[in-house]
Amino acid sequence: MRKDVRILLVGEPKVGKTSLIMSLVSEEFPDVVPYRAEEITIPADVTPERVPTHIVDYSDAEQTDEQLFQEISKANVICIVYAVNNRKSIEKVTSHWIPLITENTDKDSRVPLILVGNKSDLVEHSSMETILPIMNQHSEIETCVECSAKNLKNISELFYYAQKAVLHPTGPLYCPEKKTMKSLCVKALTRIFKVSDFDNDGILNDHELNFFQRTCFNTPLEPQALEDVKNVVRKNLSDGVCDNGLTLKGFLFLHTLFIQRGRHETTWTVLRRFGYDDELELNQDYLFPPLKVPPDCTTELNHNAYLFLQSVFDKHDKDRDCALSPEELADLFDVFPYMPWGPDVNNTVCTNEQGWITYQGYLSQWTLTTYLDVQRCLEYLGYLGYSIMAEQESQAAGITVTRDKKIDLQKKQTQRSVFRCHIFGDRRSGKSGFLQAFLGCNLARQNMIREEHKSYYAISTTYVYGQEKYLLLHEVSPDFDFLSDADLACDIVCFVYDAGNPRSFEYCATVFKQYFVDSKTPCMMIAAKSDLPEVRQMYGCSPLEFCRKHKMPPPQSFTCNTAAAPSRELYSKLTTMAMYPHVSQTELKSSTFWLRASVGATVFAVLGFAMYRVLLKPR
Ligand code: GDP
Ligand code: MG
Repeated sequence: MRKDVRILLVGEPKVGKTSLIMSLVSEEFPDVVPYRAEEITIPADVTPERVPTHIVDYSDAEQTDEQLFQEISKANVICIVYAVNNRKSIEKVTSHWIPLITENTDKDSRVPLILVGNKSDLVEHSSMETILPIMNQHSEIETCVECSAKNLKNISELFYYAQKAVLHPTGPLYCPEKKTMKSLCVKALTRIFKVSDFDNDGILNDHELNFFQRTCFNTPLEPQALEDVKNVVRKNLSDGVCDNGLTLKGFLFLHTLFIQRGRHETTWTVLRRFGYDDELELNQDYLFPPLKVPPDCTTELNHNAYLFLQSVFDKHDKDRDCALSPEELADLFDVFPYMPWGPDVNNTVCTNEQGWITYQGYLSQWTLTTYLDVQRCLEYLGYLGYSIMAEQESQAAGITVTRDKKIDLQKKQTQRSVFRCHIFGDRRSGKSGFLQAFLGCNLARQNMIREEHKSYYAISTTYVYGQEKYLLLHEVSPDFDFLSDADLACDIVCFVYDAGNPRSFEYCATVFKQYFVDSKTPCMMIAAKSDLPEVRQMYGCSPLEFCRKHKMPPPQSFTCNTAAAPSRELYSKLTTMAMYPHVSQTELKSSTFWLRASVGATVFAVLGFAMYRVLLKPR
C-alpha cells in the first residue's frame, strides 16, 4: 500500500474548492477565504486509512498553467469540483478538465478522478442525472459525491473517498463497462480460495470461512453474519452455496458484490493479506523475506514447515494412496504461476510402482530445494500461503539455518538432518545406478528412465541411531576441468568404480589424490557392478591397498542389478560417516562402531516405545 496520498482539487473559479478544504480543517464554513488554501498535511492517525494525506488547492488567479500541470502530474487522485447550481461548471468537467488531466498524466499510471458537486445546500434537486452519463463514459472516474462546504455535508466523506481511490483503486479489480471483475483479480482470488480450502473439497465451510475471516480481518465472523453472507449468495446464485459452504463461484460473486457496492477495500484487504501488490502480482517482499545464510551453514525445513507441507500433501492426495498422481500434483501446484517440478523430480526422489512421487519423496524434494536453493523454497512456500495458513511471520520462519560446520566439527556433534554426499566416478562406472538404487530402483527399472528425465541428484531418508536423516547424493559429472572449494563442499565423498572394468579405478585414485588426499571430509570407495565378475584394476596398487594407504574403509561392493529393491545398508553407512566425520577410519573399519551404532538405534526404538506407553497410561 502507498505511504502517503496527495489529493488535488481543481475546477472552475468560485465553485468552492478553497471553502471545502477550509471546512474540512476547521469544521465550520469560513465566510471569507483566500483564492487558494495553503497545502495541508493531515497526519496519519486522524485519517480513516491511517496514511498521511496532503490536500492541494488550485486557483487560476494565483497559479500559472505550468504550475497546474505540475500539480496534476504529482497528484495521486484529483477531485474535479463543480457547483451543483452552476451548469457551466458541470459542462467544463468534460469539455476542459478531464481532457486537460488526461494530457498531463502518464498513460500507464492512471490517476483516479472524483467528481464533486459542491453547494448542495442551494438546490433541491440532485445533479446526478447529468453526472452519471459522464461517469459511464470515463472509467477513470472512481466515484462522485454531492456535498456542501456551507452546511458541512459529506465533507469528510469526500476526502475519505479520495483517499480510498488511491489506496484501494477499483481499476485493477473491476471492469465497469462489462460489470465484471478483471481476469487478474479473478485469478488472484481463485488462488486465495484454493489456499484457504483446507480439505480441498472446493467449498469453504464454516471453519475455513472463520479462519479466512480471522487471518484477513483479525476478527471472527459472528454465526449470524456467516449465515447472512451465505443467504445473500444463495439469493443471487444457484450454485454459490453448496453443503452449507461457499463455492468458488459464490466466493467470487461475493467479491464482485463488495466492489459494486463500493466496498472494494474489503477485497483489497484480502488480496494484500495474501501477498498481492497494486498490480495484483505477488509482492517480492512477500515471496522473498530476508534470510541470512552465513558461509558453512546449510538450510533445512523446520518441524513446523514439514507439518504444513504434510497438510498440503494430505489435502491433495485425494485417493489416499500416499502418492501424488500427475493430476493430484497438477492440482497441488495450481496455486503456482508455473509448474515448479519437472519430470526429473520423479527420478530424484522416491516414487511408487507407477512412478508417482510418494509422500516420502515429496518431503524429500522439498528438503532438496531448501538445501540447494533456499530462495526458491521461500518463493514456493509463499505460493502455498505458508506464512498465512501456518500463522507465521513470513516463510523464513519455516527455515532452520544450521550452525557453522566448523563448530559441528569442533564439538564433534551435529544438529543437521540433511547430509550431502558427492559422488565421483568415471563415465559408465555406475554412479547413476548408485543414485537410483537409493530411491529403490533396481537396474531393470533404471533402464526405463528417459535420457532427458535423468537427474544428477537423489535424496531420501536413512536411519542413523534410530533417527531419520536425509542423505542428498550428488553425481559429479566427470567432465570438469577444475573443482573449486564450493564444488567440493559436502559431508562425505564417494568414489565409484566399475569392478568389472580394469580401467575404472584409476579415475577415482586420480581425483582422490588431486582433491581429497588432505581433506577432512570422509571418503568411501565403492566397487560397483559387483554382480559381474571382478577384474584386476590396472593401477599401481589394488583398490584395497589404496584404501588402506589413505586410511579409508575398504572398498564396498555394490550392485543395483537385483531382483527386488537394492540394499540400503550402504546409504546408512554413508550417512553415519557424514554425521561422525571425527570417528577414525580404523574405528569405522572395526565392526564395534557399527555395532554401537545399531545398539544406539535399538535403544532409541525401545525408548520410543516406553515413552509411548507412558503417554498412554491414564493419569
Ligand atoms: P474556489 O474559487 O473554488 O476556491 O471557491 P471558494 O471557496 O472561494 O468559494 C466561492 C464562493 O462560494 C464563496 O463566496 C463561498 O463562500 C461560496 N461557497 C463555497 N462553498 C459553498 C457551499 O457549499 N454552499 C454555499 N452556499 N456557498 C458556498
Ligand atoms: Mg479558491
